[in-house]
Amino acid sequence: MVKKILEMEVPLVYVAGGVAVVVLAVGAGGYSDYAVRADFAKAKQDFASSTMQFESTITDMSTKLADAETENTTLHERLHDEVDRNNEYGQKVESLVSTVAMLDKLSKTDRELLQKYSNVYFLSENFVPASLTNIDSQYTLNKNVTLEIHAQIKTQLERLLHNATADNAPLLVLSAYRSFGTQANLKTSYKITYGAGTANSFSADQGYSEHQLGSTVDFTTPQGGESLAAFDKSSGFTWLQQHAHEYGFILSYPKGNKYFTYEPWHWRYVGVELATKLHADGKYFYDLDQREINTYLVKIFD
Ligand SMILES: [Zn+2]
Repeated sequence: MVKKILEMEVPLVYVAGGVAVVVLAVGAGGYSDYAVRADFAKAKQDFASSTMQFESTITDMSTKLADAETENTTLHERLHDEVDRNNEYGQKVESLVSTVAMLDKLSKTDRELLQKYSNVYFLSENFVPASLTNIDSQYTLNKNVTLEIHAQIKTQLERLLHNATADNAPLLVLSAYRSFGTQANLKTSYKITYGAGTANSFSADQGYSEHQLGSTVDFTTPQGGESLAAFDKSSGFTWLQQHAHEYGFILSYPKGNKYFTYEPWHWRYVGVELATKLHADGKYFYDLDQREINTYLVKIFD
């Protein structure tokens, strides 16, 4: 029986084994297909979700990049604005510096130098030029008397005198700076010699003379003996009319002026710029408005 069973068992084992193989095979085959499908579906799902995440990350980053670009543009614009503002401040500072320099220059320049003084305008008896210096005696008529001139005008005056002589129109200085006191004494002596009426016609009272400024001179020729009135016939006077402005000098009281008697010998320093403008326009100092004249003060010694 055992043998029978054993005998039978063999094919049974085989059968059982065969069935198992088939079942396994079928089972295995079925499982693997399902698993692959499931894996695929999961992978697909995973991929889809990853893709979604990735896409959202990209969207996120794009938004951030756009924001960053906008911010960058804004910063760039702000930088530009700052640079512009900086330039503007720079220009303002520059103009302030030049204004300060101009004010400093003005504070050191006597306003009186460009004020009108004649029988209409009065100069304080206390006014004394900032600095006076001697005119080289080779340029003065009377070698025994020392003549003084405003220190910042000396060079221009001596250049004028040197060049006039070089141009065959020799000129010398007869009178220059006169203090308030000197002018008073001079006027008194003129009144004694000529009488008050005559003296008033050619000599200003103290305080009304441009000579007190230290910037005004009376020219004469080396002959000197000729009357002052004849000076306007001299080559020196003709030369002055053509060239004095180049050295900053003007004829204060021309023929026919309504301020003072005609004085062809009497020349006042007002600076090259103003003198040149007056010469070009054919105008006289006393005809200009004082406000316009004042704008030239800062450049008077340039
Ligand atoms: Zn004079």
